Amino acid sequence: SRTIVWFRDDLRIGDNPALHEAVQRGEPIVAVFVLDEHTPGIRPLGAASRWWLHHSLSALASALSELGITLILRRGAAGEVIRQLVAETDADAIYWNRRYALPDRDIDAQLKSELRDAGLEVRSFGANLLFEPWTVRTGSGTPYGVFTPFWKACMALPEPREPLPAPTDARGARPGVDSDDLRDWRLLPTQPDWAAGLRENWEPGEAPAHARLEAFLADDLPDYAAERDRPDRAVTSRLSPHLRWGEISPHELWHQTRARHAEGQHAAAAQKFLAEVGWREFAWHILFHFPELATKNWRSEFDAFPWPRLNPARLEAWQHGRTGVALVDAGMRELWHTGTMHNRVRMVTASFLTKNLMIDWRKGEQWFWDTLVDADAASNPFSWQWVAGSGADAAPYFRIFNPELQAAKFDPDGTYVHRWAPEYAGDAPVPIVDLKATRDAALAAYETVKNAR
Ligand code: FAD
Repeated sequence: SRTIVWFRDDLRIGDNPALHEAVQRGEPIVAVFVLDEHTPGIRPLGAASRWWLHHSLSALASALSELGITLILRRGAAGEVIRQLVAETDADAIYWNRRYALPDRDIDAQLKSELRDAGLEVRSFGANLLFEPWTVRTGSGTPYGVFTPFWKACMALPEPREPLPAPTDARGARPGVDSDDLRDWRLLPTQPDWAAGLRENWEPGEAPAHARLEAFLADDLPDYAAERDRPDRAVTSRLSPHLRWGEISPHELWHQTRARHAEGQHAAAAQKFLAEVGWREFAWHILFHFPELATKNWRSEFDAFPWPRLNPARLEAWQHGRTGVALVDAGMRELWHTGTMHNRVRMVTASFLTKNLMIDWRKGEQWFWDTLVDADAASNPFSWQWVAGSGADAAPYFRIFNPELQAAKFDPDGTYVHRWAPEYAGDAPVPIVDLKATRDAALAAYETVKNAR
């Protein structure tokens, strides 16, 4: 008898309930990761995510191999691949940590019932969210649509469980089944190799994720409340891609932060930080209850928004940081080079695309999906809709970011702009659109939405 542990968005051995329980079960373990680009409705990974995944899988494979477990890599429609693997390994149990998007949830539910009918022990665990989306409900039993009461309700629930220790010892099974070679998946770019900036800035994997948390709590948390909005100061945790792939769990963030700063002079900063982790929870809560978040307006009155015909030259200027607007260009180049962008600048660039350039938020969401190392099925469309005004608890439409005022406020010495778009120090380029005129046009277009309510 054997236990299959199916890894998905939880590429870690520490605080991994599925792995932990499989080790407790005591039977030999077969670990598997499936690259699914085949199930209908699956959203293919963006290029930066593929880069991350390659390195993260290779880190996971070595961590597992130290426990004597081989990570089997397979490609195909996940349902079929898992059925096949069960047959090949003669497994009598399969464990995984839950997923919350579609079609993932459907794949898992179907497999669970089928495999149980076939006599297997199938168990799923909560691992990647602090609060399971269906456990947070308003008094009338509906899901939340506003962050503050949502987070308040979460805080009234029992505290998230303590992280589980990484296993030190496990029984691997000699799997005796084939595994793909990771290199054959071609997750890394070759010609051209655009990943130099990613390699300079990131180290995927569980151990680097823990080191990052440690460094953040020791060095940067004290300044977090005051300076988290400043792109010229790098005080945020940079944990988002590690969280995206589950190299570290939110439980780990929660308890380590609380253990050090529940009281004392940095307690307020710690609370602010955990509330930001709360926004991630909220985005997943929304996605769970509204699975079409990446394609449909959460507020349906925005379906009436009169998007003009796409101007591809403008979209391209935005993508490549050639809009003539300093903070926007700096942000878009940071993104292209490093696979990330500071949160404040994400808001400014997204506002500029949707309001000044009048380009549908879905175009921007797709570009971020492809270029961000932390591209996340919930946080990305959630945040785009937040900026566009169509989302849950969104910024009011009329609050259109002025990129020049934002730069003056959050990058007062121009350090950030200078780093990514140095030409602005000299003869500054001319913006491709007039900020004031496009702002007025956006507000006029919004009248249609107001009337559609
Ligand atoms: P920290 O400030 O250290 O925050 C800690 C953690 O909290 C983050 O790692 C993240 O998991 C979570 N978090 C923080 N802010 C937010 C937020 N506003 N919404 C949701 N979660 C948050 N975040 C993603 O993880 N993936 C995305 O694809 C993504 N796309 C975005 C697109 C737009 C247009 C905007 C405006 C924001 C987007 N964000 C996204 C949210 C936010 O910008 C990033 O989570 C943050 O910049 C990551 O940096 P950090 O880890 O240093 O954050």
